[in-house]
Amino acid sequence: MARTDDDSWDITESVGATALGVAWSRAQEQNTECPLFTDPYAQMFVDAAVERGWQLPPAHVVERIRAIGGYAASRTKWFDEFFIAAGANGIDQAVILAAGLDARAWRLPWIDGTVVYEIDQPRVLTFKVDTLRRSEAQPTAKYVPVPIDLRDDWPRALRDAGFDPSEPTAWAAEGLLPYLPASGQDLLFERIHELSARGSRVGVESFGAGFFDPEYLASGREKMREYRRQAGLEGDDDAFDVQDLWYVEERTEVTDWLADHGWDVTSVSAADLMDRYGRCAAGEPDETTPRTVFVEGQRTC
Ligand code: SAM
Repeated sequence: MARTDDDSWDITESVGATALGVAWSRAQEQNTECPLFTDPYAQMFVDAAVERGWQLPPAHVVERIRAIGGYAASRTKWFDEFFIAAGANGIDQAVILAAGLDARAWRLPWIDGTVVYEIDQPRVLTFKVDTLRRSEAQPTAKYVPVPIDLRDDWPRALRDAGFDPSEPTAWAAEGLLPYLPASGQDLLFERIHELSARGSRVGVESFGAGFFDPEYLASGREKMREYRRQAGLEGDDDAFDVQDLWYVEERTEVTDWLADHGWDVTSVSAADLMDRYGRCAAGEPDETTPRTVFVEGQRTC
């Protein structure tokens, strides 16, 4: 399933299915003793995809997702808090890039008058909107889907949908960067910068030290093979791995890029974040802790 410059997908295919994987993991969080957030829509998306013929991930993938469940929950919580803090500071325009099945526009307590724009591929957003419409779920902000590929002219589509670049914006890029080539990542931040009025904020799940180390990537693949073996699927060493959908290329450091462009930047590693939320032993990453960082930038000039 090699990537191409203009590939597209439905919710059950290629990169689209990663959004279903994340939704499945958010649905699992609801069954834990002490969930970090409430997302009643996640299971709804999974059920709707199954109705359409999507098969729940095979046992080995389920194990893998379960293993990083603490990470996925911490990540969701971090972005929830990011948006709530932005709202508390008066920002009432949000753009969720590569929104997938993120249900924040339906489940967060947005301040009055907030508009939430969501960008993702057309078929992904159609599936999402149709599913929510069937359940009669009501957004808690004004919801505006912007169905377009992030490699296309999305700034124009966003403006055409009503986005106001003169107003401060809260931007989120969660679970997105590995699916963009390095040049696409640079372009993404240039565009965000151009569209960001003073006071804007950006939250990004980015790459930490060693993310692209061949040994680290190989150990991720090996872990999947191990899960496959445990699931009785031996001899399938070339089976699909999510890394096959990534652009494994060294990138510009997001923290440096933002700082160089006049943004105030803070960041927290995945391990420290999970520690903060009680989802791993104090600051002790194990081999399943992704080498990512959560970056927040505020545009002050
Ligand atoms: N942010 C969501 C979340 O955390 O639940 C979804 C994350 S999912 C891992 C990746 C999402 O990125 C998918 O919904 C996919 O369609 C979207 N995506 C990746 N590349 C994209 C592109 N070039 N244009 C639009 N959407 C893209």
